[in-house]
Amino acid sequence: MADTIIDGKAVAARVRAAAALRARALRDAGIEPGLAVVLVGDDPASGAYVTMKERDCDEVGIRSFDTRLPSDTTQETLEGIIDAFNEDPAVHGILLQLPIPRHLDTESAIARISPEKDVDGFHPVSIGRMVRGLPAAHACTPEGVMELLRACDIDPAGKRAVVVGRSVLVGKPMALLLIEANATVTVCHSRTVDLPGVCREADILVAAIGRPGMIDETYVKPGAIVIDVGINRVGDRLVGDVAFDRVAPIASAITPVPGGVGPMTRAILMANTVAAAEAAVESK
Ligand code: NDP
Repeated sequence: MADTIIDGKAVAARVRAAAALRARALRDAGIEPGLAVVLVGDDPASGAYVTMKERDCDEVGIRSFDTRLPSDTTQETLEGIIDAFNEDPAVHGILLQLPIPRHLDTESAIARISPEKDVDGFHPVSIGRMVRGLPAAHACTPEGVMELLRACDIDPAGKRAVVVGRSVLVGKPMALLLIEANATVTVCHSRTVDLPGVCREADILVAAIGRPGMIDETYVKPGAIVIDVGINRVGDRLVGDVAFDRVAPIASAITPVPGGVGPMTRAILMANTVAAAEAAVESK
């Protein structure tokens, strides 16, 4: 069995505790960090996420400004609400809960968020700054993976990293952060030839695919570190993209699902919001 089952819940609790300390310092200086979450429509999973984020905000000491809009909301109304949060000095971070209904333009709505308030790291300015290696809010899930690696004293420098998945939300920013951390990175996708062979080259293998249990022991080099970003609902269970029971015996470290990367995404959102509030104070 892997030496390390990476405990995302414990690391996420430490990230929230650190964010809470910084939030308290801000409040002592008269600034209450504020996060606005905009939810459009009545998708139950998105609604549950937003409720959990509100709970995280309470724990960390961040004021929530949430707006729940009906699914027939127009682009104009959505962007008007984003504009109002952009103007509101009590709001330091704005998060548009994705996905939004198909009749709305996601790219335009994200671009409308003021880059300084983009705590999700999806704004083109944030992504551009990340590509250039400049300070920016990093997308919460990939940054959560980096935090897990740091928490386990795993330094990607010089290691071969393989990321399976090239989405804008996970795979691409994940690859960029690993490059910044001096890993040698290969990004795979549905057109990759000999995916198992490429994955077996990895010292650090990140699966962000959305295919339950696809990565089994034939994809993994013995001793590799395996990070499972996937969250897939199979019946009434949540499972990852990695066949945990088959891979854990040969990996040196592995994240479980649930309880691995999942809790980190929300914890990093809290840290990004506190950082945005600190930056707002500094820029005054
Ligand atoms: P997308 O569907 O946007 O991207 C999936 C990627 O996987 C694509 O690049 C796709 O390739 C690739 N892929 C699909 N099938 C295969 C295959 N058979 N072989 C190789 N590559 C394949 O998903 P996301 O990136 O948004 O999410 C990925 C997973 O992570 C999902 O399970 C999602 O639920 C989970 N997730 C978890 C989060 C967390 O907090 N832990 C946060 C966000 C997502 P191609 O580009 O060629 O189509």
